[in-house]
Amino acid sequence: MKKNFCVDPWMSRRRSTRVVNIGHIGVGGDHPIRVQSMTNTDTMDTRSTVDQIERLAAAGCEIARVTAPSIRDAENLRNIRTMLRDRGVDIPLVADIHFTPNAALIAAEHVEKVRINPGNYADKKKFEVREYSQQEYADELGRVADRFRPLVARCKQNGVAIRIGTNHGSLSDRVMNRYGDSPTGMVESALEFLDVCEEEAYFDVIFSMKASNTHVAIQAYRLLAARLEERTEGEPSYPFHLGVTEAGDSEDGRIKSAIGIGSLLEDGIGDTIRVSLTEDPVREIPVAEKIVQRSLERWARDAGRDLLLMDLPAFVNPYAHVRRKSRRIELADLGVGGGDPVRVELELSDSASWIESNDSAGLLAKSLAKVEGVECESLLIRMEGEAAASGIASFRAALDRVGVQIPLSVRVDAVLLGGDVALPSGCARLVVDVGPAQSQISIDKACRIVSDSAIALEWCFRAELTEIPALVDRVLEAMAENPLSDVAFSVESDGAVHAARLLAALLEARGMGEYPIVLRHGFPDSEDAELRMIGSSIDLGAPLCDGIGDMISVGGVGRPEELLDVAYRILQGARLRTTRTEYISCPSCGRTLFDLEETTARIKFATSHLKGVKIAIMGCIVNGPGEMADADFGYVGSGPGRVTLYAGKDVVARNIAEDEAPERLLALIGESGR
Ligand code: SF4
Repeated sequence: MKKNFCVDPWMSRRRSTRVVNIGHIGVGGDHPIRVQSMTNTDTMDTRSTVDQIERLAAAGCEIARVTAPSIRDAENLRNIRTMLRDRGVDIPLVADIHFTPNAALIAAEHVEKVRINPGNYADKKKFEVREYSQQEYADELGRVADRFRPLVARCKQNGVAIRIGTNHGSLSDRVMNRYGDSPTGMVESALEFLDVCEEEAYFDVIFSMKASNTHVAIQAYRLLAARLEERTEGEPSYPFHLGVTEAGDSEDGRIKSAIGIGSLLEDGIGDTIRVSLTEDPVREIPVAEKIVQRSLERWARDAGRDLLLMDLPAFVNPYAHVRRKSRRIELADLGVGGGDPVRVELELSDSASWIESNDSAGLLAKSLAKVEGVECESLLIRMEGEAAASGIASFRAALDRVGVQIPLSVRVDAVLLGGDVALPSGCARLVVDVGPAQSQISIDKACRIVSDSAIALEWCFRAELTEIPALVDRVLEAMAENPLSDVAFSVESDGAVHAARLLAALLEARGMGEYPIVLRHGFPDSEDAELRMIGSSIDLGAPLCDGIGDMISVGGVGRPEELLDVAYRILQGARLRTTRTEYISCPSCGRTLFDLEETTARIKFATSHLKGVKIAIMGCIVNGPGEMADADFGYVGSGPGRVTLYAGKDVVARNIAEDEAPERLLALIGESGR
């Protein structure tokens, strides 16, 4: 039986790992989560590389990676190291190796860690499809091990660590043919290299399982954690380096990184992180620090709590993304759950101001019109007291007059339902907040009101995690007396990710697993917009990646158009709803032969209207084609001033001049009819 990937699925408890020292920086064990980055200068340009590493270190980067694409580059790591020491910068260095075992052996003399990619350390990518017999596969493994063993021996001798850094896009043909382009293939690929390390009694190993697809990254890391636990049950395991590769730039790059990395940290998985942005690498550091800060708060909160370890059915399959099955309910004519896309609702905070102001409907209409290419599908407003019912009805009528004809639902505290309260006319659903102090009378009353009104009902459990099971049972008891069909559930508790998971598992255990779940999120009041976006991306993105959530309902502090914009970006980052052009762009490194950041900006400017089209912008022909995942079109640097264009995996224009490449890309997309 597969071991679990985390200590407790219902709270954040750090995975137990051994310490691997990268020079003077310990990774794993009780060490803090380390923040690292990678240079994008030419490794042969010693001064520029050192300047950039110095800036990275000053920004808080604790480990710096430098590409070593050739023996000359690997040898130049010595000069980089010397100049850094002369400047008093003692940050540990990592050599990044693809395809060049000889360069790895040299680099291991000058750096504290060597990163190898098991997909290309000893294999050339030919995209060949062939069947391997058992013997052929074993022979191939033997050949790869023979290439890798000398590096292991040298690293062991020099006290240098190794990162076995698997990338989803660059699995070897051998692994692809046997396991496919899958998390399993990524894990098997890494374990083949671990076997060699362990045969040599070498244990200074760190793993990464990067992918541009957040689902694949999360699943691969979880699967690896479970597989390692099987190998040495109950013992500290190898530390993990987390990252989402080719995440892109700006908000989308930050959101995608926060979803992938933050989801894993919620599970207690991760010892060092790198946020890969197509920007100056120095800008990666504050983003990484904020993801770490947010996760450390979770870890600290849960450190003092007893493990819950509740015996509940699995909330999802943690190793494959499958959206939780739910029945469709209707809010007016808006379908939620079933086969409908994950819906987006805006909760209007400070309901009194919306109800009382004469022109609030008009202002809201203007705000909603500002969100390009996406729409607010549902509105939610709180009814603070009986008297508010008529105000809400008037607000509904005003919305209709200005053309905002989307469902308006009403949220109430269950206490309010204890008396004789009438719902406002035009209410699409009733959202009832239920806490531990609520009387059963008001819960029963909510059932009856909804039953009489023939509208949908959502129960929102507002309680500590440990109080939620009892609350769910009380509500289900009331529903047994008053059968209802259009029902959804949500939860507001400290720790949104685990609460959503617990709710899904409890409903499943109580035979109510088919009811839709709404993920509620209140954007906090924070001066730091980036921190706010990161926290929201984790709270919403992690459950969505687990397959939980039929609607996201966002409110809190912020203009309506801002909240909706982030909500849709999170849905796209979690691969649940595509409403924009998707960009897969690498962070660039010493192999990059053009200004990737500027080129990406130009291409984005020209293509941002192409909803649903995936465009990859990759810095080099060595790794770019493999790493650009399932992009529809690829723009890949193939030499100084030269670019190769791809349609899917096929080359359509080779080595064209960089100046004309963006226009040729646009023409190509146009010709394809996309
Ligand atoms: S794809 Fe980009 S980051 Fe990766 S090796 Fe090539 S240039 Fe460097």
